[in-house]
Amino acid sequence: MKKDYQHIVILTGAGISAESGLATFRAANGLWNNHPVEDVATIEAFQRNPAYVHDFYNELKPLLNAAKPNPAHLAITKLQQEYPAKISIITQNVDTLHEKAGSQNIYHIHGQINQAVCLNCGHVLETFTDVDTETTCPHCQISGMMKPNIVFFGENLLYMEDVDKLLHQCDLFISVGTSGVVFPAASFVQIAKYYGAETYEFNLELTSNNLYFDHHIYGKAGETLPRFVSELLNAQASADNHNH
Ligand code: NAD
Repeated sequence: MKKDYQHIVILTGAGISAESGLATFRAANGLWNNHPVEDVATIEAFQRNPAYVHDFYNELKPLLNAAKPNPAHLAITKLQQEYPAKISIITQNVDTLHEKAGSQNIYHIHGQINQAVCLNCGHVLETFTDVDTETTCPHCQISGMMKPNIVFFGENLLYMEDVDKLLHQCDLFISVGTSGVVFPAASFVQIAKYYGAETYEFNLELTSNNLYFDHHIYGKAGETLPRFVSELLNAQASADNHNH
């Protein structure tokens, strides 16, 4: 572990929210809230039956709204507040637990549950209340064109230009609770490593992506990440004392 990272990127996946009571994909055999992904998370499904897809996300909203950040989310906030580096979070999660934990610089590349986007004008509506096939866009006033701001399979990821820059700049890349099977997020570690970052993986188990990580830290992120953050802060503080 170095003591003076300048740019840290933290990629998070469903595993970081598991200890907040939100099921991961894999734990549920690829089902999301008991629904096959093809029925609720593809652009074709939305085009075929938008009412059904809206219902699914409307049902999910109270569950995700009620969830509370766990020690892993809070550890990231602590790192952002106390470590003197640019620290960005790229999350695949559609929950808002990083925001609830008080973190900054969050890129929701797969969208977020509390947003809907107007397919007519592009306006993003932020709400935890229901959105359906009749909702009127508050910007262009057209009804029936709102889509959950969730990136479905078959759609482009959000914030990819920013992500690209962050991966090029970063000297420490940390992945937390992601299985490394959903692309392109699974390739971020390779890109960061190629540009010289040191890479850490936090997971319960070895993932299919494990070859690209310099370090593996196994265990529940709510336990391993706070410990790691303390170590980073201590190493930095002792380097700071040494320099004065
Ligand atoms: P995934 O479900 O494929 O993998 C989760 C990973 O987290 C697994 O490798 C598992 O071993 C690990 N894990 C589980 N509990 C952990 C813990 N306590 N500590 C550390 N690691 C733990 O998730 P993914 O890679 O993020 O991909 C799934 C997709 O599903 C994403 O695109 C995401 O958008 C979506 N999703 C989001 C949520 C959410 O927003 N909370 C929940 C389910 C799925």
